[in-house]
Amino acid sequence: MKKIITEQPSLSDLDCLDFNYIDQGIYNGDEVKKNIMGTRFTTVARNTIDYWTVSRNNKKPQSQQEFSQHVQNLKFSQRPIHIYIHIPFCKQKCLFCAFNKGEDLCTYSYDDYIECLIDQYNRFLDVFPNKRPIIGSIHIGGGSPNIIGAENIRHLISQIKKTSCLDGNNTEISVEFSLPTVDLDFLDALFDSQVSRISMGIQTMDSETRKAMKLPPLTSKLNEILYYLNKKIPVINIDLITGFPEHTLRKVLKDHAFFIEHPVVNSISSYLLNPAHASGLLQQILYGTIKKLPSHEDSALFRLHTILLMRQKGWVRNGTNTYVNPGKIIEKNFNIISGRECIGSFNYDDCLFALGASSIGSLPGCRFENIRDPEEWIIDIKKGGYGIDLGKTYMEQQNDLALWSFPLNSNGISKKVYNEFIENNAIASQQDVVFRQLIDEGLIYESEDHYSLTILGEIFMGHIVRLLKNPGERGALDKEIKNLFLSAKNNLGRNFNKEKIL
Ligand code: SF4
Repeated sequence: MKKIITEQPSLSDLDCLDFNYIDQGIYNGDEVKKNIMGTRFTTVARNTIDYWTVSRNNKKPQSQQEFSQHVQNLKFSQRPIHIYIHIPFCKQKCLFCAFNKGEDLCTYSYDDYIECLIDQYNRFLDVFPNKRPIIGSIHIGGGSPNIIGAENIRHLISQIKKTSCLDGNNTEISVEFSLPTVDLDFLDALFDSQVSRISMGIQTMDSETRKAMKLPPLTSKLNEILYYLNKKIPVINIDLITGFPEHTLRKVLKDHAFFIEHPVVNSISSYLLNPAHASGLLQQILYGTIKKLPSHEDSALFRLHTILLMRQKGWVRNGTNTYVNPGKIIEKNFNIISGRECIGSFNYDDCLFALGASSIGSLPGCRFENIRDPEEWIIDIKKGGYGIDLGKTYMEQQNDLALWSFPLNSNGISKKVYNEFIENNAIASQQDVVFRQLIDEGLIYESEDHYSLTILGEIFMGHIVRLLKNPGERGALDKEIKNLFLSAKNNLGRNFNKEKIL
């Protein structure tokens, strides 16, 4: 039996980010910092999508040619590739959302955007050694992918299928859409394209919270759409968010219970609100026009109770923040759920082709980010470029990726892989020390042949990813999160017209 660490480990170099400063005025009770649930953490993690940031050696390509040369020389595994396609457009502008650019493409049309996505995919294939790779999963996310219309989604999926091989019937094809704007033609196109999973962002059922967050009211359309999808799409996922201002445990549990009990829904992705990406929301909180976010302790309790509720009802974790009900999904469909939630790779030699403005992908020895602005991205693709932002692309093999990404992977990490890290000196000794501490602290569960997160670990997942990173990369990640918060705060009074909201 290992000794339980009761004192705070000396972490001055690990917990270097001055979170106290950036929190000021955003969370309830942020003036009192205390350890939550007996862990080393005084906050819940703010990051959910920044995990793949890397700049240990800061080796960026100087030109598209250098990028292309680098990719051609990479050693690809024979495993299936994964494709993430980003459609960053939406008719709505929810206050907390950073994933869409509105619905306007001034100079170009959605048809142009789709053709560019196909061109970008083919351009990647040109430098890829296997010209007809096997695809493990395709995830089309946004924004609101339904905004491009039924014909475009049909065309996009068929073109990707045409140039690649699907992994028998094991390729997951997943598409997100937005409830207020989706129509039956779009859903029919998904059926025709043999989409295996849909995901619909509901976020919360609570009408007051929806109003405050500028989410449209929910109508009977929710059930109409769900029943239209029933039995035609194997996995029906609902996205929920916890930790909105004024969210209470009662509201959070009510949201989850509704979909747990719903006869059609068999998958729920439950996220914690990420204020670092919600500058509009942060600004309104700081101006006092919207209430503060729940305290960190309350947010952790929301996570704890939602995870417990889902487990109690027989749902199992299958994805980073996703729980599914195995009783409502037939086995062959259950086995093809990739659990990737479009956010990245689990091994250094995974291959994630990210297509579309602002999406982030990784190759075995390269992490790349697409140009953020959709019009600039289209221009680059039309000029024959790769559509990537050279300043945010790193040519570096992240050998330790399976270590720090394991908290995001519901399969955990095998002891065999972990021991290979140690034998091959693939991780810094400090990473091993932290890993052992996290086991002792009850955040990582050690079984005979595996490591996985405990429930406590799931609550503080983002912190664990950060702590398991190589110290150099952790510094870069900290800087990025801090900058996001600070730029939102600094923009007060500049891009933001207080009068408009008062
Ligand atoms: S509908 Fe979804 S993608 Fe669109 S603004 Fe709202 S949260 Fe963002």
